[in-house]
Amino acid sequence: MSLIRAYERLSGVLSSPLRLREPMARHTTLRTGGLAAMFLICDTLSDLSKTLETLAEEQVEWTVLGKGSNVVVSDEGYDGAVIVLGRDLKRHHTDGGKIHSGSGVTLAALVQDSYSRGLTGLEFGVGVPGTVGGALAMNAGTRDEWIGSRTETVTLFIPGRGLEVIRGTDVEWGYRTSGLPDLGVMVECALDLEPGDKALIRREMDARFLWRKASQPQGLPTAGSVFMNPCEDSAGRLIEASGLKGLRFGGAQVSEVHANFIVNVGGATATEVLALIDHIRKVVIREHGVELKPEIQVLGGPKRT
Ligand SMILES: Cc1cc2nc3c(=O)[nH]c(=O)nc-3n(C[C@H](O)[C@H](O)[C@H](O)COP(=O)(O)OP(=O)(O)OC[C@H]3O[C@@H](n4cnc5c(N)ncnc54)[C@H](O)[C@@H]3O)c2cc1C
Repeated sequence: MSLIRAYERLSGVLSSPLRLREPMARHTTLRTGGLAAMFLICDTLSDLSKTLETLAEEQVEWTVLGKGSNVVVSDEGYDGAVIVLGRDLKRHHTDGGKIHSGSGVTLAALVQDSYSRGLTGLEFGVGVPGTVGGALAMNAGTRDEWIGSRTETVTLFIPGRGLEVIRGTDVEWGYRTSGLPDLGVMVECALDLEPGDKALIRREMDARFLWRKASQPQGLPTAGSVFMNPCEDSAGRLIEASGLKGLRFGGAQVSEVHANFIVNVGGATATEVLALIDHIRKVVIREHGVELKPEIQVLGGPKRT
């Protein structure tokens, strides 16, 4: 692999400058993690196409990052290229009850825009940080409502094949899974919404906002729920019942407000966060016989089981 050759070939070709050794703490909501060997913003489809072609030829591993709100980057960093979607892929427009959105748009922007146009169906997204691409990859939402059930089509850029449109009904949407990221880079989607009463939409959005404010940590860096909820139970309840609320490993702490959140109370390293995650899993198995599955994804570092 030649990362440097890929860097030289792409420098001056893409609309936005590339960076080497980029601190990933700047690009993740947990504010931890090491360096990405290369960091680049693809403002256009043509930039994305050139980037993926060059990275493939130079055998450089790559990943796409949205707002990094579901990712922990290891302290050893990521020795591939981190791709972020920029300008042209951060646009959206509405056409009747449909929203056509680039994957780089934030989910919050779509939630607000659908409200202002009197469209209902995205209220579940209130308080879910991140981009539309990240939401599609993770099938973001709640236990009962998720973005997949509103997705009419997803457009992917598949290396070596180009653009392909997949119908939402052909995707196996599951609890925090879609299988879509394995296929390529999601660049766009069409979401199907319905006309609604603006006052009712507002009321629903406000209720969800207040629920989050009361039940989730505020003002501290976090990557949201650490574990998926097991069937018929809640990861937060199991962690709290295991006596782990408030437990601290260095700067990483099991939130005092919601035990399924880890917060960075100051200077946390990814190593501390990951050690805390391992510890929680072990204690919950010991105390309750339940194996919690991480919702958070880890980028870089040694392979984890
Ligand atoms: C305070 C807080 C509250 C949260 N609450 C919720 C919640 O209620 N429900 C919920 O579901 N999640 C929640 N999350 C988790 C997170 O916000 C969601 O998973 C979000 O959808 C991730 O979006 P992102 O852009 O940050 O993705 P990232 O974290 O950047 O990436 C997540 C995954 O998506 C992939 N990806 C991103 N963009 C693309 C793309 N264009 N093409 C292919 N793959 C891509 C990445 O490679 C990675 O594998 C919460 C997080 C926080 C910090």
